[in-house]
Amino acid sequence: MKPENAQELAANHFGIASEVTLLPGERNPNFLVTNGVQKYVLKIHKADEVAQIELQEHVLAELSGLSGFSVPKTIPGSEGKSLIALGNGKFARMLAWIPGELWSASETAESHKIALGRLIATVDHELASVDVTKYRSVLDRPFGWNALQVQSLVDDVELIKNAELKKHVKLILDRMINSTLSKVIALPHQLIHNDANDNNVVVHDGSVVGLIDFGDLIYAPRICGLAVGCAYQLDARDPVASIYAIVRGYHEVSALSPAELEVLFDLICLRVATSVVMAHRQLAADPDNEYLGVSQDFFQALLPALTSVSDRLSHYRLRNACGYEAHPDSRHVRQWLATTDAKISDVVMPPFANAKKIWLDWSGENKNIARSWEAIEAEMHAAGADVAIGHYCEDRNVYESDFFVDEGKESRTVHLAVDLFAPAGTPVYAALDGKVFLFHDNTDHLDNGPMIVLEHETDQGVKFHTLYAHLSRASLDGLSVGKEIKSGQQIATMGTEEVNVGWPPHTHFQLIMDLCDMAHDIWGVAAISELPVWRSMCPNPNLILRIPEGTDVHAHMKTETLAQEREVVLSRALSLNFQKHLEIVSGKGAYLYDRDGGKYLDLVNNVAHLGHSHPRVVAAAHKQMLTLNTNTRYWNQNAIEYARALASTFPDPLSVVFFVNSGSEANDLALRLARTHTKANGMMVLEHAYHGHITSIIDISPYKFNGPGGQGCPDHVRVAPIPDAYKGIHRGEGSGDKYAADFASTLKTLGQPLCAFISESIVSSGGQVPLAPGFLKQAFAATRAAGGLCISDEVQIGMGRMGKSFWGFELHDVVPDIVSIGKPLGSGHPLAAVVTTPEIANSFITGMEYFNTFGGNPVSAAIGQTVLDVIVDEALQRNALTVGNYLMAGVHELGKSIETIGDVRGSGLFIGVEFVTDRESQSPGTKVTKDLIEFARENGVFLSSDGPADNVLKIKPPMIIGTKEVDIFLDVLERGLKSI
Ligand code: PMP
Repeated sequence: MKPENAQELAANHFGIASEVTLLPGERNPNFLVTNGVQKYVLKIHKADEVAQIELQEHVLAELSGLSGFSVPKTIPGSEGKSLIALGNGKFARMLAWIPGELWSASETAESHKIALGRLIATVDHELASVDVTKYRSVLDRPFGWNALQVQSLVDDVELIKNAELKKHVKLILDRMINSTLSKVIALPHQLIHNDANDNNVVVHDGSVVGLIDFGDLIYAPRICGLAVGCAYQLDARDPVASIYAIVRGYHEVSALSPAELEVLFDLICLRVATSVVMAHRQLAADPDNEYLGVSQDFFQALLPALTSVSDRLSHYRLRNACGYEAHPDSRHVRQWLATTDAKISDVVMPPFANAKKIWLDWSGENKNIARSWEAIEAEMHAAGADVAIGHYCEDRNVYESDFFVDEGKESRTVHLAVDLFAPAGTPVYAALDGKVFLFHDNTDHLDNGPMIVLEHETDQGVKFHTLYAHLSRASLDGLSVGKEIKSGQQIATMGTEEVNVGWPPHTHFQLIMDLCDMAHDIWGVAAISELPVWRSMCPNPNLILRIPEGTDVHAHMKTETLAQEREVVLSRALSLNFQKHLEIVSGKGAYLYDRDGGKYLDLVNNVAHLGHSHPRVVAAAHKQMLTLNTNTRYWNQNAIEYARALASTFPDPLSVVFFVNSGSEANDLALRLARTHTKANGMMVLEHAYHGHITSIIDISPYKFNGPGGQGCPDHVRVAPIPDAYKGIHRGEGSGDKYAADFASTLKTLGQPLCAFISESIVSSGGQVPLAPGFLKQAFAATRAAGGLCISDEVQIGMGRMGKSFWGFELHDVVPDIVSIGKPLGSGHPLAAVVTTPEIANSFITGMEYFNTFGGNPVSAAIGQTVLDVIVDEALQRNALTVGNYLMAGVHELGKSIETIGDVRGSGLFIGVEFVTDRESQSPGTKVTKDLIEFARENGVFLSSDGPADNVLKIKPPMIIGTKEVDIFLDVLERGLKSI
């Protein structure tokens, strides 16, 4: 069809007066149709495609509600039909154009690959529930792009004349047909798009927005479709690493199973091979069609890279990318080594485990690496040691040879073995029964020298290997592959420096799960970014050596690796601070330091109450850890003396202490105490309050149950308005009384006996909101009148932070029945407590024992006591008062000229600064707050925000900050607010 006919068609049948251009395409003509406002795609189909098109129409209709991404929408033609018969045996159809460019024509980054994975998974998820019973014959039609029909490609491999290319294609097809296909077929099948190639993915404004072309739909395991998406994103330098992001993106939306990951790499290879075969097949039929050559240069260049990497190693790497341990049997082998009755022998005698030894530091951090035997001997001599050990998982600075650097790739630097240094000639023994798997003299400079690999088997028939390298040449004499070796049998002697191609005499002893087609170039070191994979592939040889002081130095991984690992091994429900995430490696006083040495004033952390790494806290912990740590079921002075010291900071009758480990746990115990005492269940809480992350406490935290993902307010809970005198429902003087009246009327709606009212004295999650004066006293009275108890949550604000008082409730002239304390108690050590009255504590004596494994242990108690001591010794409560007042005065002063500062409030070093767009309307300055926090981070100050509109700076620094730190903050605040 010519464009002019298409134009006529668009006007007559779809009512679109338009300009028309022909689009590139593989099978049928497609036209871009524009009417000046909207764009459309006009598709022309042959009669034999009608069933296929009906399927597509059905699927597109089902996907019309897809969230987050777009798929084409069908534009009905005359008489509301989507398919218009053209009379010449052809049919036409019109689809709405998805605004944007094709992936192939866009600049894309790693983040796009994640989005691509999410897109494929999102579409797959929807497609899984589409009923296609009616369409199975169309879906299962003979179709070369259907991975399940790989067998149909075999004959056409002969069309490939280039012998090298043919060899790679054959290898991939054989592997698929002979071993992988049966595993693919065994996976659950569903409807899949099967063609997320870079000409079918739409990118707009830097985001992946949609998927087009549903002409390749098939019924197959969804992993086949992901493999297609991956195939078009491969980078020959490291094909597997180049698709990590896509696979992770998919896994985020829809978890990939180990069985799916096992076949993914082979399916990706298959798609590349399929493309090459199909191009040859189609070119044979239609030598002039240019589109058929699309992707061919790319794919043909990729094939050698795909067949040169081990498909098994690729499988392990993809498992690791999704958070599964890389080698599926590594855990079993480690367990077997840890528990087997099989004889495990010492690799050298006398055993290194018992010898006097030193550890050599060959890491990049050591400026004086002892590399020669003389230098190593000198170090051993100086320490009176007989042997020296080289670490496992050490990031080393000794692998200078080209052998460790592949062109264009990251150097391999992390040691996967343990080195046992002893004089040349020292005998080496087999660790376990096994047989010779391979032996070889690797003579390249800094390579393995003469080495032997033994194969072993666990009781469940899982095979693994031990490798002994840098042996004498004579060690290889008389060996043959398959030769039986007994545990403890001498197999070698250590080689000299000359034989060992540049290394001092030692045995490099390595455990390896799978040699992954490495032949005799077996990796003894790996790239640091692949360390998690190789830890699994090569478990710590100390499972065999049993050197009690340890051999693993846990090389510092790259920040990018940590970021990727965090996504899969920790829950993604955990957020990260700041838009630019940071790797924080140390803290001292009021400052934190990132990996690059960046220094940040920490105004966020009220946990490090005395400052980060306070030397007295560290010393107390260290001393007590060296002496004793056990539970509270013995008389031990630490817990008892500390409980007394803590209780004495409270007014009568608060005098009985329960030790726990977190604020949430403290509040949970507070609830239990209150329920046991009152035998009631009803709860009063304040709007926006947060009291902890555990099930019972989410129920009394409106911040969570009314927030994203929340389940709403439970029946036994009533929420009273937050007594916010600045912008709440009642404002200014006298508002406390009005809020108290609201509290009382809310309480009346409870409809069941009241157990307790819980609140902070400054509602931190509400945006540092001080309770309006007079409110708490009246709310306590109303609570008690209704038979309930009053719980004060001091987790955020207590321990002298208020300046004027040691505890927040004291600001309101009340005495609670129960107080929960957490964060600051251990100045960074997880320590929390509940303090209550003897009467309530008595009610808790029910016969059911209260036992808390860690609560009040001697180490925690020693730390808690030290924190109390330091608050006194360093006069920190007074510091909180004076420095806090200085800070608030400074912000007030800035507020005279900066309109966006709406309110400054708080007490001591617990301060809120609320930003507004203008003071009149008090509309929340959410964006200013967000931008300011990023500006401050860039300028070396950590801040955080909270409140329902996230427009309140929460300032709650370590209690040791001085006016110098406040000046740094005020300067950043002023510059930030004036520049953003
Ligand atoms: N209560 C309040 C007021 C809190 O802010 C928090 C923690 N932010 C908790 C309780 C819970 O403490 P944790 O996180 O130690 O469980």
